[in-house]
Amino acid sequence: MYTADLTDAIALRGGVVRTSALRGLGATASDIRRAHRAGEIMRLREGVLALPSADPDVRDAARHRGEVACVSALRRAGVWIFDPLNPTRAVHALHVWVGGSGRRHRHGPCACITHNDAGTSGFGSTSIVLALVQVARCQGAECFFAAFESAWHRGLLTRRMRKEVRAGLPASMRYLVDLARPDADSGLESLLRLRLHRIGITLQTQVWIAEIAGRVDFLLDGILILETDGRENHDGPSRRHQDLLRDARTAALGFDTLRFDYAMVIHDWPVVEAAILARRRVLGSRLGRMAGVLR
Ligand SMILES: [Zn+2]
Ligand SMILES: [Zn+2]
Repeated sequence: MYTADLTDAIALRGGVVRTSALRGLGATASDIRRAHRAGEIMRLREGVLALPSADPDVRDAARHRGEVACVSALRRAGVWIFDPLNPTRAVHALHVWVGGSGRRHRHGPCACITHNDAGTSGFGSTSIVLALVQVARCQGAECFFAAFESAWHRGLLTRRMRKEVRAGLPASMRYLVDLARPDADSGLESLLRLRLHRIGITLQTQVWIAEIAGRVDFLLDGILILETDGRENHDGPSRRHQDLLRDARTAALGFDTLRFDYAMVIHDWPVVEAAILARRRVLGSRLGRMAGVLR
């Protein structure tokens, strides 16, 4: 087999292949040696070959005889991954699925997290469904919930896939799928909604307010607007002006607004929660007084 045909065959299979699969296509040991000497292919470990152009994460996973998995697979698919800055979660390590009976292969230097979910792993990346189930067990409820909503928002989850994810979760986490929505614009919205749900607060999401011809992130008790700023970078003064203008216009309609940014939701949650609860109490008593006047 010509070297070009050999590398084409590997490229067709995602850049990583078992030697035995190549032999099955008719490549001889000397064909493979020749391609290797020419630097056209690399040996990742005994019996596993790759193109030098193959994705580095896919290559490292293949060194474990596994697939890129969990948070790593979702990140590759463009799904938002919550980074709680918790070193024990190892959210930035390469997560690899080595199959149910996968042996622990190591390579140096290696900081990978291996997963042993049932099934037989190949090379490449796990399915979105499996990756989400892995995230739930590996990273916990918040990371899972934000990733699930992000994947759904990006059109990566059909109804059937959502059911499969739900079935794969521990029973205690299935409510997260039931709570999830496809319209969360940012992971920050997902986290805010989940955290408030846990203290018994249900929000209306992406509420259209006709008088301002605009949509607000959340509405609580029909009167308190909650806005999250998930954007990494404000678009400068004009953005701030737009926000202030909008707050003034909704205030004129009788709404109250609280705004939170990424750092507040992630690092100062008790402050956010206290602000929402206190404002809710004040507005609740005002609503009560108004109801009394109207009666
Ligand atoms: Zn993991
Ligand atoms: Zn590794």
